[in-house]
Amino acid sequence: MFETLSDRLTSVFSSLRSRGRLSEADIDATCREIRIALLEADVALPVVKAFIARVKERARGAEVSQALNPAQQVVKIVHDELIEVLGGETRRIRFAKTPPTVIMLAGLQGAGKTTLAGKLAKWLRDQGHAPLLVACDLQRPNAVQQLTVLAERAGVAIFAPEPGNGVGDPVAVARQSIDHAKRKQYDVVIVDTAGRLGIDEEMMRQAADIRDAINPDEVLFVLDAMIGQDAVNTARAFMEGVGFDGVVLTKLDGDARGGAALSVRQITGRPIMFASTGEKLEDFDVFHPDRMASRILD
Ligand code: GDP
Repeated sequence: MFETLSDRLTSVFSSLRSRGRLSEADIDATCREIRIALLEADVALPVVKAFIARVKERARGAEVSQALNPAQQVVKIVHDELIEVLGGETRRIRFAKTPPTVIMLAGLQGAGKTTLAGKLAKWLRDQGHAPLLVACDLQRPNAVQQLTVLAERAGVAIFAPEPGNGVGDPVAVARQSIDHAKRKQYDVVIVDTAGRLGIDEEMMRQAADIRDAINPDEVLFVLDAMIGQDAVNTARAFMEGVGFDGVVLTKLDGDARGGAALSVRQITGRPIMFASTGEKLEDFDVFHPDRMASRILD
């Protein structure tokens, strides 16, 4: 992830290193190179434009600073702006005042929702919470089974319709799970929902119905970082169809170019809250914009 972007930016900056002072033309040329690097990384065009405009403005005003040489100044500006575009501060889960805190996951099939549900449950358990996993993906044949196995591995409880009971009603299951959590004193409920391979009205309606039935404290949109340019359209469609409070980026271990990560915050106005970096339950962490920015410029 981000390797190509990192390499490109590093070479842009190294060409500035020998300069004593940056002229207007130097700044323009540098910004042009950064623009190309971002577009090649699949960052959405409006995001690139806004990014470059800010870097340019700050680079022009930065000449007075004596503490850093011109190359260092540009690196610092780009670093700051990367943090900004990645969301600025880390956004933590907002727990409900009265438990259970209800977290609903939404996203396309294959995005990594079910895996993420298991990871999030384990992460919460490790912090002393008592999470309940809820299987509301009753569309994908193996989803309930997959979540059951994950729950077992994570050492957390699961609420699922009995196998063999037909397709089942995910809205009813979601609703029942909340009562179940209250009765059994689980303090966080994580609801896995059905996705489709592409944007689909029926899928959106079902997710919106579940949302209306359980009124979640957090709706997390699970986004596969590997889908490149499609990430923006997918995120927009989920924002419109279901609405969400935060984003979880998955498959950051893959060799994606990074466009989804750098675009999604600005396109949706919602923060990236968690990152998934592999298939194992442990491959998961809170998303830190500053660390990610440093990694890109490493
Ligand atoms: P869902 O359809 O959204 O529930 O997606 P799944 O959770 O079933 O994940 C789809 C596939 O992606 C599975 O093979 C997962 O093991 C894999 N997967 C999920 N998250 C990650 C990740 O962060 N990195 C990698 N490499 N694979 C992942």
